[in-house]
Amino acid sequence: MQAIVLHGKNDLRFDPEYPTPTPKAGEVLLRLTYSSICQTDIEMWQHGMFGDRGARVLGHEAAGVVEELGEGVNVPGIEVGTRVAVENVRTCGQCFFCRKGTSQLCENGRNFGFSDDGGLAEYGVWPAELVIPLPDNMPNEEAPLAEPTSVAVHAVENANVTVGETAAVVGCGVVGLCTLQVLKAAGLKVVAIDPREQSLKIAHELGADAVLNPTTEDIASLLPQIADAIRNGRDLSPFLREGAGGRVDGSSEPSHSMTSATNEIAAGPKSSDDARAKTDFDNYIGPDVVIETAGAPSTGVDAANWVRRGGRAVIVGFSHQSQDDINFGRLHQGEKTILASSATSTGGYQKAVNLIASGAVNVKPLISALVPLDKGIEDGFERMLRPEKDVYRILVGNG
Ligand SMILES: [Zn+2]
Ligand SMILES: [Zn+2]
Repeated sequence: MQAIVLHGKNDLRFDPEYPTPTPKAGEVLLRLTYSSICQTDIEMWQHGMFGDRGARVLGHEAAGVVEELGEGVNVPGIEVGTRVAVENVRTCGQCFFCRKGTSQLCENGRNFGFSDDGGLAEYGVWPAELVIPLPDNMPNEEAPLAEPTSVAVHAVENANVTVGETAAVVGCGVVGLCTLQVLKAAGLKVVAIDPREQSLKIAHELGADAVLNPTTEDIASLLPQIADAIRNGRDLSPFLREGAGGRVDGSSEPSHSMTSATNEIAAGPKSSDDARAKTDFDNYIGPDVVIETAGAPSTGVDAANWVRRGGRAVIVGFSHQSQDDINFGRLHQGEKTILASSATSTGGYQKAVNLIASGAVNVKPLISALVPLDKGIEDGFERMLRPEKDVYRILVGNG
């Protein structure tokens, strides 16, 4: 069968004769329809696979049609011909973390497209209980987007949000734009932050209550004012640009970037006396929740800076670099919570499929191109590397 196989760092190959798998007991054979390429796939291609693993078919955001049932498969709703999304995490059910109901932390987890062959192929095998039937109104090309949506669901659940809160999403790539919509579905007001105007335009269309661009706007000053205004029902227009164009007042002077914002926690007060000093930030009450999905080295600290005192900053983006200049005095004074959210948890995938099918999460604007398998490397992976950053998800497959 055709497959896109990662052999090691910088060694990604299209293989027209990769062995077609056969389902073991409890598994189904899937004829794969589409898989999306995400930044993690690019990371593995450019920097090598996580852990020491042999050649693998990539593609952890995948969908297919059940082609054959392995021995003993008896899962309601799963039969030959069922269209499905692939829930990519296969947990052991036996380790400390699984027994505690936190299977996302499983020590023995396996993943479709990481430890095991994934979706960038004509066929794949996976346990029958980990494929999720697609509602009739959900086309095959939307199903791989259940993966980033499930990441957003997990992040929003980890953030412990309450109806009526105000959130900011830092980074409006695919996960950020899904997170924005899950937050809206959960009843929050949302401010979207991204340096790309195109992303801010989509964020606005997908329901963001306000959008901010860190290359032209001072987030550290504006965000708490906007959160305060939202909370108090005030008119947002004094703070906002018309659509995603220039500012209402016409100024376009770059002030603070996402990486050089007023970093009270990063570069802030050095002594505990200083930590008690009032700052601009204290004049307004910032967002209750800030969810960071950009994965840049500085954006985690930005999230911690920008969340209100007593609020929660959630780190979703993945960065190899650590940020060690966090000011714990400032965190302490503000009783801020910083928490991390990785991948998804049990049930996250099913919720994601339902959110997409119900229309609460619209993934259509996130699909940038459909590319056949044999063109997946040049028109998919290589396009993702271009500096324009104008693609969201490229779907690879034969439909
Ligand atoms: Zn991914
Ligand atoms: Zn486990």
